[in-house]
Amino acid sequence: MTEALHIVCPHCHTTNRVKSADLVSAPDCGGCHQPLFTGHPLALDETGFDRHIGRSQIPVLVDFWAPWCGPCRMMAPAYEKAAARLEPHVRLAKVDTEAVPALGARYNIRSIPTLALFVNGREVARQPGAMGEADIVRWVQSHLARG
Ligand code: ZN
Repeated sequence: MTEALHIVCPHCHTTNRVKSADLVSAPDCGGCHQPLFTGHPLALDETGFDRHIGRSQIPVLVDFWAPWCGPCRMMAPAYEKAAARLEPHVRLAKVDTEAVPALGARYNIRSIPTLALFVNGREVARQPGAMGEADIVRWVQSHLARG
């Protein structure tokens, strides 16, 4: 089955339609012609967050963090590696709760780092506390397998 998925570009936030079978072939954005997946977490402001969470038809994992948070900074390299492993089946994003406090408030983020997994705009799982690369990947896959 070759269903088309809505994939939001990390560069220009245009919504692209990509056949699920083509996800792994490094698709480019129809708007800005840059790669739809970079293998790196995407930093989101409130507008970008709403675009990606609201329109993406692949799951979006969000790391709520802040620059002053030691455990957040410790987790960052693991999160980078997890992005390289989980893309293009999951979009990995980061929200700096100091720069974008409205999002932390909207989702009632009580401690950082907190990971939240969104599927079709709905939060399906949340995990506070720093995790290593393998634990991040396992945590995401366990919640997606549950469907
Ligand atoms: Zn683009």
